[in-house]
Amino acid sequence: MKNLIELRFDNRFARLGDTFSTAIQPQPLEAPRLVVASPAAMALLDLAPDTLENPLFTDLCSGHWLWPAAEPRAMVYSGHQFGIYNPRLGDGRGLLLGEVVNQAGQHWDLHLKGAGLTPYSRMGDGRAVLRSSIREFLASEHLHAMGIPTSRALCVTSSSTPVWRERQEPGAMLMRLASSHVRFGHFEYFFYTRQHEALKTLLDHVLAQHYPQSLEQSQPYAAFFREVLERTAEMIAYWQAYGFCHGVMNTDNMSILGITFDFGPYAFLDDFDVNFICNHSDDTGRYSFDNQVPIAHWNLSALAQALTPFVDKDNLLKTLGLFLPIYRAAWLDLMRRRLGFTRADENDQALIQQLYKLMQGSAVDYTRFFRELGDSTAPEAVRRLREDFVDLAGFDAWSERYRQRVEHEGGSQGERRTRMHAVNPKYILRNYLAQQAIEAAEQDNYAPVRELHAVLSRPFDEQPGMERYAERPPEWGKHLEISCSS
Ligand code: AMP
Ligand code: MG
Ligand code: MG
Repeated sequence: MKNLIELRFDNRFARLGDTFSTAIQPQPLEAPRLVVASPAAMALLDLAPDTLENPLFTDLCSGHWLWPAAEPRAMVYSGHQFGIYNPRLGDGRGLLLGEVVNQAGQHWDLHLKGAGLTPYSRMGDGRAVLRSSIREFLASEHLHAMGIPTSRALCVTSSSTPVWRERQEPGAMLMRLASSHVRFGHFEYFFYTRQHEALKTLLDHVLAQHYPQSLEQSQPYAAFFREVLERTAEMIAYWQAYGFCHGVMNTDNMSILGITFDFGPYAFLDDFDVNFICNHSDDTGRYSFDNQVPIAHWNLSALAQALTPFVDKDNLLKTLGLFLPIYRAAWLDLMRRRLGFTRADENDQALIQQLYKLMQGSAVDYTRFFRELGDSTAPEAVRRLREDFVDLAGFDAWSERYRQRVEHEGGSQGERRTRMHAVNPKYILRNYLAQQAIEAAEQDNYAPVRELHAVLSRPFDEQPGMERYAERPPEWGKHLEISCSS
């Protein structure tokens, strides 16, 4: 374990120079206090949990102090927002502080979100509010605990700095960790500004640091695109299988690593609804739950466009054609596991589609359904779950097929339960739970958000005394309006 001060930096992105980012210092928050920290994320930096007792930790995470080897920079990028190209975005309120190398030799970007104005702030104030910082913190660490590829979060600090949104809110900062903060939009920026040499520099950087396998292929850039596509398809498969709705799948929010990135008005489904729109500002439902699949494909086409100076168009199109099959196979695999199957059966896809059709329009809690399905034997479980379905005859027919399929699998109920509980979370980050923790934190009571974080870091475990976090959401909790404002 390391001392906080001893972190080793190797700022590879900063060394690419001013074409790619601008040096700028964080603007500290007034009277900072530590709201919540993730011991699991701290471990990525080799930091022991007692590091939190060092007041320097809060200073570092609120812009008051910097490691001498840190080189804070705002990155430039652009991107398609709701389908429309915005030629200049960039880090308007977050700074890449530097890249920490841990004892295992892994690089972790330290990114301080809410760190003040930058050359890319446009009309914004460079700040982040406590509400959205807590939401990103909880989601990052929870998704990770669920096995879903994601950026990570070290901690949230709050302050007395007032920030104006629809009302005055506490200014906050989030320390985000990721192996890279490069987005699809980085490539789009250099492509559309016709800086092809810089585009090549960026590509070579990303390939060398994050896709070294592709360098061994006969066409490294084409191989790189294929791997980005595969990773993205797999990430989307997780989102769809677990009911995660991102909310703002603009290309500037798509990580080049294929990890869940830039959390805004996200939500996990409560009642199953393929048309669910979690972003109150998304009037047309462009980023609705079901649209996440075609939108990811669309975003990959936008990335492909930016790679056309270096990869043959036919090659890119051919790779794009692989998206749906890769996605479907990954999704089917996850769904089979959720249903407790260890083997593939040619009728599984139809069985799952039939279940989705029955769930749609019923009042079936998507998370609790799978957990309860594994709790008892298949006949017993479907008997209990039946009352939430509108089409009872349809559900009975499905139950019979499912029961036969489980019988065909063989094995004991004990094994089935263990297997299913290992992939079907008991605890999920519901918007209303986040909301309750946020309201307490805004009153300087941080115990609820810390407890919620602790519960959500073990989503698959039975946690005696914490059952209230696994309950069905109250009716009001299903209809919270979360917008882009953050
Ligand atoms: P987002 O919707 O959070 O993905 O942000 C889109 C763009 O707006 C990015 O360039 C952000 O850096 C920028 N941005 C968002 N909020 C602010 C803010 N309060 N101040 C400055 N820039 C912001
Ligand atoms: Mg963003
Ligand atoms: Mg954002």
